[in-house]
Amino acid sequence: MKKPASGLAALFMDCRAAAEAQSKLLDGKLSAWTRIGLRIHILMCRWCWRYGRQIRKLHDHALKHPEIWHESEGPGLSEEARDRMRKRLREKK
Ligand SMILES: [Zn+2]
Repeated sequence: MKKPASGLAALFMDCRAAAEAQSKLLDGKLSAWTRIGLRIHILMCRWCWRYGRQIRKLHDHALKHPEIWHESEGPGLSEEARDRMRKRLREKK
């Protein structure tokens, strides 16, 4: 188990911690220290800067179009399709 960085340690995060912090930031669950650390990291790291921009865009898009969450879950299989699958599985035995 990894201990979450706190205090000064949060100021010096690696890309992995930064990526984690960015998604937490979108959820509004980031401590002040980590937020500062993330900002520092993003100033120095182009990759994380770009990553942050991308997930922010995705996040905004998802907020504007909440229906995509339901679509991605999918309607599921119809009862008929499930039956067909069950039969086919039984035949294979
Ligand atoms: Zn980075």
